[in-house]
Amino acid sequence: MPVTRTLEADVLRRQDPELAEILLGELDRQSTTLQLIAAENFSSPAVLSALGSPLANKYAEGYPGARHHGGCEIVDVAERLAVDRAKALFGAEHANVQSHSGSSAVLAAYAALLRPGDTVLALGLPYGGHLTHGSPANFSGRWFDFVGYGVDAETGLIDYEQVRTLARTHRPKAIVCGSIAYPRHIDYALFREVADEVGAYLIADAAHPIGLVAGGAAPSPVPYADVVCATTHKVLRGPRGGMILCGAELAERVDRAVFPFTQGGAQMHTIAAKAVAFGEAATPAFRLYAHQVVANARALAALLAAEGLVVTTGGTDTHLITADPALLGIDGRTARGRLAAAGLVLDCCALPHGDARGLRLGTAAVTTQGMGEEEMATIASLLAGVLSGGTESQKARDQVRELTGRFLPYTG
Ligand SMILES: *Cc1c(COP(=O)(O)O)cnc(C)c1O
Repeated sequence: MPVTRTLEADVLRRQDPELAEILLGELDRQSTTLQLIAAENFSSPAVLSALGSPLANKYAEGYPGARHHGGCEIVDVAERLAVDRAKALFGAEHANVQSHSGSSAVLAAYAALLRPGDTVLALGLPYGGHLTHGSPANFSGRWFDFVGYGVDAETGLIDYEQVRTLARTHRPKAIVCGSIAYPRHIDYALFREVADEVGAYLIADAAHPIGLVAGGAAPSPVPYADVVCATTHKVLRGPRGGMILCGAELAERVDRAVFPFTQGGAQMHTIAAKAVAFGEAATPAFRLYAHQVVANARALAALLAAEGLVVTTGGTDTHLITADPALLGIDGRTARGRLAAAGLVLDCCALPHGDARGLRLGTAAVTTQGMGEEEMATIASLLAGVLSGGTESQKARDQVRELTGRFLPYTG
C-alpha cells in the first residue's frame, strides 16, 4: 500500500514528521473505524499511486492535441486513455474527464446547456437534492430559477406525477435527476419522456450510482440523458473528481464549458488515476463488487428495519440507505455523534417529511474491505445497540476494532 510504503521509505517522515504523523493518523482512523459514509470508498493502491505521481507537476490547459502548454505529449496519452476507457465503460459517445469534482461537473453541464435566469426542475433539497440543484447558498440557486419536485409522503419514492405536472406548468429549460440520498433506482426513461414533452434537456447527476452503473448493478442514465454528470470517487472507487458523459452533438459545448469556462489547467495526476479506476471498473471483479455492494445494502436495510429503524422507501436498490432512528428514542444528529464515538462513521440527512434528521449510510467502503452479509448483521446489531443505549460505547468500539482488524482496507 503506497501511503505506508512512502512513509516507511522515510521521505516524508524525515522531512516533515508533523505531516507524516497526520497521514498515519488518518490511515489508522480509516482502518480502525467503520466507514459507512455513503459517498466514501477506498481507492486502490494503483489509483493512489497515480495520484501521487509526477503527473501532478504537469500543467496542461486545453485538451489532448490542443494544449496551451508545451511538453504535454505524454499526459495527452493518459487523458486519451481515460476518455476512451470512460466511453467504453459507459457506452457513451463522448466523455470529459477533466472536472475537478462532482460539483464542477454539474456547473459545467449547466454552463453547456443553460443561461443565467433559466428555469430548472430538480429534486428539492429537503428530499435529497444536492447543493448544486438549486441551494440558495450555491451558484445554482443564485444563477438559475430552480423548481423542486419531491417524493411521495407515503412511499418515499420520487413523485413522477408531480415531476410531469411541474414540468408542464414551469416549462423548464432543463430537468435534473439524481440525488445525494435517494436509495432507489431512478426511472430515467420516464424523465426522458417528460423532458421531451416540454422540450427540456435532461441532466442526470449520477454522482452516487455511477459506480453501480459501471458494474452493471444499476440502470444507466447514458441512453436517456442529454448530459450525465458524475463523480469518480464514490462507488466507482477512483480518485476524487468529476466526469461528464454526453452524445457527440453536445461534445464541443461540454468541453468548452469545462475548459475554459469553469476551469483552468487539468489535473493530470487525477486524470491518470481516473484512467486506472475506469480500467479496474471494467473487470469482472468490479462487477462482482458492485453487485455485492447492493446485496450488502439490501441486507443491512432489512436488518436495520428489524432493529426498529424506519428505513426510507422500505429498503434500497443501491449502496445507500436512509433511516429514521426516532423509534429507538434518538434523533439523527445525536445518533451520528453517539455512533462516531463507537467508531461507526456515517452522515445525518434530511428525511423526506417533517423536520427530523435521519441517518444516511452506504456499503461501498465496507464492501471494498471484503465484508459480506454476515458482517452486515454485526454492523446492524452494533448500530442498534449503540442507538438504543443497550451497548456501551466502549464495548461497541472494541467490537468495531475487532471487525475492522479482520478486514483491513490496505495491507502490506
Ligand atoms: C457527491 C455529489 C455531488 C458533488 O460531488 P463533489 O465531488 O463533492 O463536488 C454532486 N451531485 C450529487 C448528486 C452528489 O451525490
